[in-house]
Amino acid sequence: MIVSKFGGTSVGSAKNISQVIEIIAKKKDKNIVVVSAVGGITNLLVASAKLAHENKNYVHLLQEIETIHFQIIEELLPQNKQSKIKGKVKEQISLLETTLNGVFLLKDLSTKSQAKISSFGEALSSIIIYEALLHKGLSTVYFNSIEHIKTDSNYTNSHVNHQLTYQNIQQFVKEQKAKIVLAPGFIASNEANEITTLGRGGSDFTAAIFANALDAELLEIWTDVSGLYTANPKLVKQAKPIDTISYQEAMELSYFGAKVIYPPTIQPVLDKSIPILVKNTFKPNENGTLISNAASKNNLTVTGISHIENIALLTLEGNGMVGVPGISKRFFEALLLENINVKFITQASSEQSICIAIDAQDASCAKKAIDNQFALEILQHKVHPVVIEKDLAIIALVGDNMKSHQGISGKMFSSLGYNNVNIKAIAQGSTEKNISAIIDRKDVKKALNTLHASFFENQIKQINLFIMGVGNVGGKLLEQIEQQQKFLLNKLHINLRVIGLSNSKKMYFEENGIDLSNWSEKLVDSELTTSFSNFFQKVKTLNLRNSVFVDNTANSDLPHYYEDYLKQSIAVVACNKVACSSSYENYVKLKKLSREYSAPFLYETNVGAGLPIIDTLQNLINSGDEITKIQAVLSGSLNFIFNNFNDKNTFSEVVHQAGIEGYTEPDPRIDLSGVDVMRKILILIRESGKELELQDIDNVSFLPESSMQADTVEKFKETLIAETDHFAALYANAAKNNCRLKYVAEYDNGIAKAGLKEIPKD
Ligand code: ADP
Ligand code: ASP
Ligand code: MG
Repeated sequence: MIVSKFGGTSVGSAKNISQVIEIIAKKKDKNIVVVSAVGGITNLLVASAKLAHENKNYVHLLQEIETIHFQIIEELLPQNKQSKIKGKVKEQISLLETTLNGVFLLKDLSTKSQAKISSFGEALSSIIIYEALLHKGLSTVYFNSIEHIKTDSNYTNSHVNHQLTYQNIQQFVKEQKAKIVLAPGFIASNEANEITTLGRGGSDFTAAIFANALDAELLEIWTDVSGLYTANPKLVKQAKPIDTISYQEAMELSYFGAKVIYPPTIQPVLDKSIPILVKNTFKPNENGTLISNAASKNNLTVTGISHIENIALLTLEGNGMVGVPGISKRFFEALLLENINVKFITQASSEQSICIAIDAQDASCAKKAIDNQFALEILQHKVHPVVIEKDLAIIALVGDNMKSHQGISGKMFSSLGYNNVNIKAIAQGSTEKNISAIIDRKDVKKALNTLHASFFENQIKQINLFIMGVGNVGGKLLEQIEQQQKFLLNKLHINLRVIGLSNSKKMYFEENGIDLSNWSEKLVDSELTTSFSNFFQKVKTLNLRNSVFVDNTANSDLPHYYEDYLKQSIAVVACNKVACSSSYENYVKLKKLSREYSAPFLYETNVGAGLPIIDTLQNLINSGDEITKIQAVLSGSLNFIFNNFNDKNTFSEVVHQAGIEGYTEPDPRIDLSGVDVMRKILILIRESGKELELQDIDNVSFLPESSMQADTVEKFKETLIAETDHFAALYANAAKNNCRLKYVAEYDNGIAKAGLKEIPKD
């Protein structure tokens, strides 16, 4: 016999229910089918109870619940069968309405009423599915879970009376000839026949109870994903289904938030070693995950990663706790009395503090209970009142094999740290099946993806680029990335993605990577106008691992933001020279931030275009060499200009040509004035380990006064024409001396200078 449970999405619409019936119809043996409420209905019921309790209008929710079920009936069953079943639904809805009305009038919502209200979801779904199975001609009997599944009176989280329930199930099933037994999950009743529920997600548990009672050969959990994944597939795109997994691992994973299976589910089937198969209702041919006693076949050290959101951290701290026995006992007793479930515990060996994680909704109640318990010690200043931190999450690595491997936690925390995920607390059980950490809730997605990449993705490193400036340099970079993307992935295992782009007018973002074949149209059509600070905020909020900010502009304000990026552990790569040639203090500060936040700050293209000059210099210095002298022609544009300038053309023509060929900066004055060369030699000098400022460089300009005074690019170009003779004379003089003109930057003995020189032709 097989027990199959179908979850909320699986029975979430007429189309899905038809799919479920198709799966059931294919079964050869007797089959127990447990169904959840239609997806989302339990939440609506809980919400309506809350509204009624707050004396607010809940009727629209009732209507919504009715409409959803009516629509399913209309699409699932022929017209002549609809009215009977709609009548039954109506009956249930009016019972629900009566209960809600009671809550509304009394302004009292006991757990007893809560259980009753949320029970309607499974009651309704099972009535409809039962009717649909019969309509398909499948021999089916209805099992009334409220009648037969017996629990204690812990209404909303009740404990099953196993003995009685197993007996009831065995007796019921024995007496039935029908091939299919259909049962609503989640709902049950206590000794006094009052409705109870098994806790959110509890339909899985109902199914597990059936499996145990009937010694089933298999428990199937049919859901909306193809098994238990290496991480929640809704948050981690790269997550993969796990083929086989042990009960222990599945328990750890599901306890830590993998809600595919409800943790208590495992116990009844584990007691009898009944395997669980998690399958996808919508992709029934996929293997799914087999949970069993057998050790998992994969040789992975880490089997999966899970997380729980909505966590609060409570810390009790004080000198008065050291060496005093019984503190922990009193601490946990206080929580027990309030029925508060503790998910995570750490205590430093100095005994100065105890720190626990609980559901955020229990936080204030827990604080009250603990502060009360330690009221005297607080009064005597031996301990401080409990401190609550909210908006947190627990993230956990799970795996049976972790215990026999070193370095797992090292790898876990370094990859999180590298991506600026702050860790608030750490716990590792001595069984070493689980390492968990408390982090900010906003970092969950990044943390899951980072860890997933470190432990499961064959070292494929995802790099997320945010590029400002898409002109000559930026445009070429994008072209090059597009051309190399495949190669980088296949050969270097780097998944290089461009997430954000900006020119001076617009910015554009795509969280899953921009298709680079038509980036320029996307940028033109974008609704976001460019703002340096909004761009930064967006990069920060997206919070992607391995983020890199790329400055391909020549803007002098943008470098002020590098600091912000680095402080978020976002790497900065710039061809813009402004930062490295700004004040020495700022240059040193950026390098320091880069080290402090493990965020690379790279600017190789500042000098010598793509040639590895800066890197080489750094290597020389690091290996103990000292730079004594630098002499260089550092300006591609000035070099082009003076190589092509002669007595057959004019200086302004050559400058114009240099612009067309992309040699000059957007503003040619920066090149021709020598400022660009000064910046470059300054950067080389600083990379050589010397402290120098831009104004310490003696730059002798070859420009005439009028060009120096020009305050716009246009006016500047006009002066180049007007001063044709001035430039022709420079050439003629050099030619006469059998020399060529070169703009040379030099550093020697602490003195730096730049200027035009006549260099002998040989
Ligand atoms: P059902 O209604 O079928 O019981 P649930 O919503 O309770 O379904 O559980 C299935 C969901 O669990 C998936 O859709 C997925 O979002 C979530 N989930 C969280 N962690 C994991 C994981 N590690 N593997 C698979 N699913 C996970
Ligand atoms: N319907 C219940 C819930 O949403 C039980 C379940 O689906 O397992 O929690
Ligand atoms: Mg579930």
